[in-house]
Amino acid sequence: MGYYAAFLDVTDRRCLVVGGGEPALAKVRGLLEAGAQVTVVWDRLHPDLPALGVPLHARRFQESDLDGCFLVIDASQDKATGVRVSHAARDRGLPVNVLDRPTLCTFIAPALVRRGPLQVAISTSGRSPFLAAHLRRLVERWLSQEWGPMVELTGTLRDRLRQHGVPLSEQTIRYARALGSPALDLLRAGKSAAAEAAINKSDGHVALVGAGPGDPALLTVRAVDLLTRADLVLYDALVDPAALAWCRPDAELVCVGKRGGRTSIQQGTIEAHMIAAAHAGRFVVRLKGGDPFVFGRGGEEVLALAAAGITIEVVPGVSAATAGPALAGIPLTYRGLAASFAVTTARRADGGVHDFRDLAGADTLVVMMPVQALPQVSAQLIAAGRPPSCPVALVEGASTSRQRVVRARLDDIGRPVAKRAVEGPALLVVGAVVNALAEVTASDHSMQDGIARGADAGGHPQLRVDGAQVRMNGAPADDELGRNLWSGQAARHQDEHLELSRRQGIHRKPTS
Ligand code: SAH
Repeated sequence: MGYYAAFLDVTDRRCLVVGGGEPALAKVRGLLEAGAQVTVVWDRLHPDLPALGVPLHARRFQESDLDGCFLVIDASQDKATGVRVSHAARDRGLPVNVLDRPTLCTFIAPALVRRGPLQVAISTSGRSPFLAAHLRRLVERWLSQEWGPMVELTGTLRDRLRQHGVPLSEQTIRYARALGSPALDLLRAGKSAAAEAAINKSDGHVALVGAGPGDPALLTVRAVDLLTRADLVLYDALVDPAALAWCRPDAELVCVGKRGGRTSIQQGTIEAHMIAAAHAGRFVVRLKGGDPFVFGRGGEEVLALAAAGITIEVVPGVSAATAGPALAGIPLTYRGLAASFAVTTARRADGGVHDFRDLAGADTLVVMMPVQALPQVSAQLIAAGRPPSCPVALVEGASTSRQRVVRARLDDIGRPVAKRAVEGPALLVVGAVVNALAEVTASDHSMQDGIARGADAGGHPQLRVDGAQVRMNGAPADDELGRNLWSGQAARHQDEHLELSRRQGIHRKPTS
């Protein structure tokens, strides 16, 4: 059956509810909220009904109850009554709904999320009330209470602009500015007067937002919220275009990315652009890969914006430094194996390769941007005291459909990596933890040779590890496991990984 969605104006209209239990009570409340004049008919009435101040008739339904009615709902859950109400209403051409009996209905009631004047109706055309209720809960979470007053304030602004004959194109700009203003956040914080002021006039502002390692599913809730409201989005090359799908269709999107030595926009130009846009009253999102304060020059941008007197919000992101290892099945810390980790880049700001002696104390090392300098990085790490046999993993394109993980010994990582050009962003993980979960990752191809297991389904490859599985494989308790992996077992796993990735070399092509 097809349904045409509509909202009925029931203000001051007589609506009949047949039934006196919980479902009837809910229907009466809903109709009253919409401004209807409700009459209730049933011989057993819920004790909360009298407090609602509506006429109650403590008897069964009779046809004359429909006199002067605009709409009828049967919530009696009595089969025979449902049929009688439905027929009588249809004879008179009145819209009728009989609870849970679509064949007796001429309209069905959607699952509803109400925020003041705002209503979102969800219907599965009666196919799955369970899923409709589930989706309503999701929408309720997403559409928090402040959206009610937000709609009211924007409505008042609209009335005023229309009264003054402001052209539609200009009105739209004002509504977009209101959406990008801090009004929603102020309403959330209970500051209605400040919110009203912000709706009418707000200074531009900038949010430095982390986009996570690539998969848009790893954006934070706040990142999505701000992306949907921005006027201007300046994004890095590493940001997945799918993340930008959250932006308003009229938002201006500018790629300011720097990638692998290609000509790039100067840092000063990016900062000047943000400052000019914010001064013009726009809401700017500066969207950066991973976390904005991890090798993203986010700190410099904050200083430049603050010096220009611009309000800044920083939204942390899921950094590739931690997400990359996690998605490759490598815990950065592991009881008995690694109690600390350090994150660094292969290159110093002056272009030279780090000497890693100052990081010798960290059990696990994550080296960002290592690809160009892999042989030097490996040599420097050995010079800094890491054993040549130390397990390492190069994690490329973590969380994307091109995720690939190559594991090897520290003194040999250059060889398997050189076999295929590294195209995506990559990082190097160094330390015993690289093989800590080898027992489980060995059964999962995506973990050892980079086959993006979830890619076909559009998701990122994920490792599902649970303690039980580790134990099932006969692994010893934490501490022992640590020692065993580090001595002997580690070498075995790592050779197997290399062997496997050689045999399955064909799979190391990009999967998309
Ligand atoms: N702010 C970012 C890092 C920017 S520096 C963050 O917190 O993640 C860029 C470097 O990050 C890349 O050269 C690479 O070393 C690493 N990187 C970013 N995304 C990655 C990914 N999806 N997989 C592996 N490494 C990644």
